[in-house]
Amino acid sequence: MSRCLALLKEVFGYPAFRGPQADIVEHVAAGHDSLVLMPTGGGKSLCYQIPALVRHEAGLGAGIVVSPLIALMQDQVAALTEAGVRAAYVNSALTAAEAAATERAFARGELQLLYVAPERLLTARFLELLARSRIGLFAIDEAHCVSQWGHDFRPEYMQLSALHERFPQVPRIALTATADALTREEIIERLALNNARVFISSFDRPNIRYRIVEKDNARTQLLDFIRAEHTNVDGTTDSGIVYCLSRRKVEETADWLVQQGLRALPYHAGMDAQLRQRHQQVFQHEEGVVMCATIAFGMGIDKPDVRFVAHLDLPKSIEGYYQETGRAGRDGLASNAWMTYGLGDVVQQRKMIDESEADELHKRVQTAKLDALLGLCETAGCRRVHLLGYFGETGQPCGNCDTCLEPPATWDGTREAQMALSCVYRVQRASGFGFGAGHLIDILRGNATERVKQRKHDALSTFGIGAALSEAQWRAIFRQLIALGLLAVDHGGHGVLVLTQASKPVLKGERNITLRRYAKPKRVREADGARRGERTDPTAGMSPRQRARWDRLRAWRSETAKADGVPAYVIFHDATLAELARSAPVSLDELRGVPGLGARKFERFGDELLDVISDD
Ligand code: ADP
Ligand code: ZN
Repeated sequence: MSRCLALLKEVFGYPAFRGPQADIVEHVAAGHDSLVLMPTGGGKSLCYQIPALVRHEAGLGAGIVVSPLIALMQDQVAALTEAGVRAAYVNSALTAAEAAATERAFARGELQLLYVAPERLLTARFLELLARSRIGLFAIDEAHCVSQWGHDFRPEYMQLSALHERFPQVPRIALTATADALTREEIIERLALNNARVFISSFDRPNIRYRIVEKDNARTQLLDFIRAEHTNVDGTTDSGIVYCLSRRKVEETADWLVQQGLRALPYHAGMDAQLRQRHQQVFQHEEGVVMCATIAFGMGIDKPDVRFVAHLDLPKSIEGYYQETGRAGRDGLASNAWMTYGLGDVVQQRKMIDESEADELHKRVQTAKLDALLGLCETAGCRRVHLLGYFGETGQPCGNCDTCLEPPATWDGTREAQMALSCVYRVQRASGFGFGAGHLIDILRGNATERVKQRKHDALSTFGIGAALSEAQWRAIFRQLIALGLLAVDHGGHGVLVLTQASKPVLKGERNITLRRYAKPKRVREADGARRGERTDPTAGMSPRQRARWDRLRAWRSETAKADGVPAYVIFHDATLAELARSAPVSLDELRGVPGLGARKFERFGDELLDVISDD
């Protein structure tokens, strides 16, 4: 057995490497450069932690990990320390004395892993310290931060090529969860990784179930979803994130969820920095918190047991959707990505692009990205196939998304599309300017509202021709027409809809239009226990005795975590607790080999765990 595998078992308590991990760790441990592209939750950390341990053991020095995120560093170091690894960090959260003590320990060769923020690493003092010490490897985490085009650009990352110049003999491993080819090229160039072996994993997140539902009453839909699928028997909820577009909506949604009896907190860039930090801490350390956030709540989240990510508003692109939903289920257990989406979202996003200060080229790119996302929303095929297709991967229908589970019906909407488009045309011709979807639907349905009468739109030939369909049905049609590019939201207008080049063939009867049929969203009843996603619940199928053990183990974990001042998942992941509750080991011998129970935790917690388990 290789030393890497032995350490995986001994230190981390895992029986086997996952996917490409085995190749990567051997490559890095042997002293070669590499670039690792792996989705969130894929297991990137072990790719440098294990080689660092192996190389330290061989007397080659400590592994240096460059990471831009303080909270994330602290978490990793806490988890490693619990596992008995000698790890530490230096960043701005430490006092000068603490930092100096850590640096001395490093210089004496006592540390196996040292995490450091890039701005600290690049100081002349720190580089000299490195020059005087033995270094086993450099790991550059979140390597996409070198990309000037990405959201997470960090100027200091550009200078990290200095590592290669000053320490050419030290192997480097760069890691990122960013999927696109352009960023990959940038990383290779900026970090001078031309000779590195590139390891690309599939970006599929099989444990995430994707669902996009038609917006009806977003808040109620959200609450129903959380109650039905993420509420435990004792009334607590799973940890989850709810993304909203605006700060105000974040606040309102959090308030409302609290009124409904949930533990919800707001997070957005307009909040006082300290309060925001506190909310993040509570979310990270405690269980059962629903974080309502703008996308400002992003990269720093390394919580493995986020069970759902809900979108109340449409993201701007598939990249955004993938990244945000990707924060669910890092631990590999089943999780939900759920979004509610309606006509208003499409109009709003189009308007935002139009009204932005960006130049025409940027607007075109943004529009194309939004269109790609709308394609995902409106697809009648597998969401996962569509999503991965966007990143250049091919695959088979997944069986774990809404369209696979309940294939949507499609219908020939050519006639209805013609009605809608000609209504837009006639209104525009009669008034000299256009109108929004609400007014157009009133005309189609023959609603003689004040505005309709005032404008004499009840005299139009399209007045009342669509009375057979409900308002909701018409909204779904208009939304799809916009998504298909047959209608555009007018520049600078207030959601005014106009015809496009593509609408002509439809009006002339030269092109047929297939639309998706939307069933009225089902309200999932709370009592409908069977629907509480078996897949999202680590306790699914447990007997009452097993469940009681699970509850005791969770209570024990929570106390232990508090005493150690670390998040609960740093002690044990849910998967490990669930395994303990199920298999109920009665001796240390039986306890050995439970996944996630490394040597150090076995020694420290073994007897205690047997006590907690045997309590029935
Ligand atoms: P990433 O950094 O790629 O998002 P992490 O390194 O945080 O992912 O790993 C995600 C989760 O998977 C962690 O909870 C980790 O303990 C677990 N994990 C990683 N590799 C393995 C493995 N070989 N066996 C079991 N669990 C693993
Ligand atoms: Zn699918």
